[in-house]
Parts: sequence; structure tokens; C-alpha cells
Amino acid sequence: MTTTSPADLVTVCRTIDDLKQKLQQLRWANAALTVGFVPTMGYLHEGHASLLRRSKRENDITVLSIFVNPLQFGPGEDLDRYPRDEQRDLLIAAEVGADLVFMPSVQEMYPVKPQTTVLVSGVTERLCGASRPGHFDGVGTVVSKLFNIVQPRRAYFGMKDAQQVAVITTMVNDLNMPIEIVPCPTVREADGLALSSRNKYLSPEERSQALILSATLRQAREWMRKPDLTVQELTSRIHASIASAPMAVIDYAEVLYYPSLEQPDGEQLLSGLEQPLIVALAVKFGATRLIDNMIMNPAKGEISSHV
Ligand code: AMP
Repeated sequence: MTTTSPADLVTVCRTIDDLKQKLQQLRWANAALTVGFVPTMGYLHEGHASLLRRSKRENDITVLSIFVNPLQFGPGEDLDRYPRDEQRDLLIAAEVGADLVFMPSVQEMYPVKPQTTVLVSGVTERLCGASRPGHFDGVGTVVSKLFNIVQPRRAYFGMKDAQQVAVITTMVNDLNMPIEIVPCPTVREADGLALSSRNKYLSPEERSQALILSATLRQAREWMRKPDLTVQELTSRIHASIASAPMAVIDYAEVLYYPSLEQPDGEQLLSGLEQPLIVALAVKFGATRLIDNMIMNPAKGEISSHV
């Protein structure tokens, strides 16, 4: 079934068959057509829009999916209160120029309980993989399904979810999926807060204290330039910095190699590390859990994520 948004500006497909049919028609008309894909959970913001714009620049057509995937939420997590606003999302999708918006129901995506799970090991051991058990199994499974449905040439993911980028890239490489994964920089508010659909739940006081994440990352960037600092010392400073915000409850604050997400020796001097490091943070403010990160190669002084 095809419907058009109230604004009559964007094509919405709510079923897999409908989306496949629309894509097939486009591919019949132009066999060389390139499809860019931006998977999201909706409640769109400028971070999502930046992925869509990049896809539009690099592909003939851009497919946006909006699906709050129950498989990637654990018991007691915020599946029920995850923000949703279909009409607003469609207006943003139309404004940015998404060609097709795939908005399936849970029933459409999972008509029966799936007996197949795409489980990526290694890169999922730490960070959100450890603090949200099963999360990346849900992500790997839904992204595989979406890739099979859309069959894009390229798929766009935000580096705000740096572990997700590592997981999806590993999955695509391991399974020889013919898709290029394009990591995109984190979009921030003017004061540094990384955009997130969950920011809407922060009280004014929590919103103000949440600035400690980006402030700590900026500070960490300076600390990482000190040649005689060890990984352990850097990690301790990061913890102390976040703890200076009284409402912050640290879920994790770790310094790991990126993209392997393996742990460097804590005694190691930063100046001796050849691989890029990620400073990865997950911090709760009240009921809202925020993540942020920065990637840097301390030995070379290169920064690959803007904070
Ligand atoms: P979500 O809807 O939160 O699951 O995110 C969908 C996609 O948008 C993921 O690839 C995210 O990494 C990306 N994304 C979310 N927030 C941002 C941001 N602030 N900047 C860039 N990309 C983002």
C-alpha cells in the first residue's frame, strides 16, 4: 500500500513489497541506478539530515528508513518511551529530499519471531555491547534485513554511534555484503551537545549538565597531546571530569583502540600508540542515557571526529 504524506512531498512505503516494487521500477528504468540508504529510528534531527544530504550527493536515489526496532532494546530500556513523530519526520524527509521513506510496522518486519540472529563478536564485547546485552544482535539482524530489502550501493551511518559503525563494517566485510559503509561526522548543537533523538527528554538542568560529555572530549583531546600521559591516567582524568557534573552517572568512559575496540595496556604512554584511539562515553542524566565519542591518533596528532 502506498500513501503520500499530508504534505504530498515524499513517497512513503509501509510494506516490504511496496518498497521493493518501487525500487524495482526505478532499476528497470535505469539499470545503473545507485541507491543510498539511511537507516534511522526516526524523530529526525540535523544529524539524520546530514546523512541524507550526503547520500543524495553520492547516489541517484536515497532511501530513508524509519523503524524503532524492538530487537535492539533490552528489558527495562526506553522502547516504549522512544520519541516518535511521523508527520514531523515526513516533513523533514521531504525538505531534505529523501526519494523513498520506508516506514514498516513491527508486524511487517517481524511477522513471526525471527529464528535467525546476526551476531557480531569481538567489536561488540565492550562499551554498549557490554552495557546493553543483546543490543548489537538486534542491530545486526535488523540492518541485515534492511540491507536485503533495500539492496543499496552505499549505507550511511553516524560516527556518534562509533561502535555501531565498527559492528556494521565488520558484518559487511565478514559476510561479503556488496555495500559500502559510509561513516559520517557527528553533528552537534552550537554549544557542543551531540544531537540525539533522546535529548528531548533532558530537563533544562540535565541539558546543561550534559555538556560535560563534549567538554570532556575536548579536554581529552588536549590531554592526549601530552607525550608522557598513560592510557590509565587519561582514563582517570576523563572519569574525574565527567564526575564534576553532579547529575552525571557514568555507564562507561573508556579509552580503546578504534576500530578494533580492543583495550590498550593501561601503562602504555599515549605517545607510543600507533593506532587511533577512541574516547567513548555513555552517561546517564536522570532516565536519559547519552553517548558521545572522539577518535584521535595521539602519536600523529590527528583527530578524526569533531568535538
Ligand atoms: P538513530 O535514529 O538514533 O538510530 O540514528 C540513525 C542514524 O543517524 C545512525 O547512523 C546514527 O549514528 C546517526 N546519527 C544520530 N545522531 C547523529 C548525530 N548527532 N550526528 C550524525 N549522525 C547521527
